[in-house]
Amino acid sequence: MYAKPDSHPMTTRIARAEDAMDAALKSLSYRLTETEESGMEPTRQNGALSTMRNDNARVPEAPAPEIAPEIAPLPASAQRVPDAIATGRPSREEAEAAVRTLLRWAGDDPNREGLRDTPARVAKAYGQIFGGYGQDADALLERVFEEVEGYSDIVLVRDIPFYSHCEHHMVPFMGLAHIAYYPTKGVVGLSKLARVVDTFARRLQTQETMTAQIADVIESILRPRGIAVMVEAEHLCMAMRGVQKAGVSTITTQFRGAFRNDANEQVRFLTLVRNKS
Ligand SMILES: [Zn+2]
Repeated sequence: MYAKPDSHPMTTRIARAEDAMDAALKSLSYRLTETEESGMEPTRQNGALSTMRNDNARVPEAPAPEIAPEIAPLPASAQRVPDAIATGRPSREEAEAAVRTLLRWAGDDPNREGLRDTPARVAKAYGQIFGGYGQDADALLERVFEEVEGYSDIVLVRDIPFYSHCEHHMVPFMGLAHIAYYPTKGVVGLSKLARVVDTFARRLQTQETMTAQIADVIESILRPRGIAVMVEAEHLCMAMRGVQKAGVSTITTQFRGAFRNDANEQVRFLTLVRNKS
């Protein structure tokens, strides 16, 4: 019989347990005869016992302790990362071990003096250069300055510097982003746009995706009459490996609303970006 030694009125407990077992046996045999006539039948006593244990466990025990995720849930703007990866994030020790593996893969000795602290430094640096995964670009834009609601002409923020990493080689690409929009319900602080760029840049990226993400988030929060985003960047993975061409600039653009529908608006945007006085 199954009763905890410290449970006080043990005999009544056992009696109740036996009643419960009888009931469980009855319902079990009922179910078995009614629905399952095959040979998969377990020994009835075991079946009944396990039913009872589950019933007992359900009442006094607290719900199974949830393993707290190591990091906060990712914001919606980082949802390219599946939850399984976000919550199953490796420990810092595992990350450092992975760096040691890559050092050996590169052909070096992780134990030589100059490299001994490198895995820890790399793991720490990742917190910053990939810090965008933990930031919510939507939330950055939520504070709109309504007091300038009357202003509806173009707002242009140009030459926003950024540093990102290409998702194909994990090698840096960097450059400038230019953002213009026609406000309808107010404007955001100009530094917010720079932080939006930063949020997306500090993730593994392609330049095309990053350009679209910047346009998407501004469009969804500010609902502007039009938005133009241009990103120009040099990719070190092109300069250092592969075709090995330095100084090559890649330009990507996204035009929405008024900027998409009217070529004159695109010209205006490009002229404002290029005319550096
Ligand atoms: Zn690359």
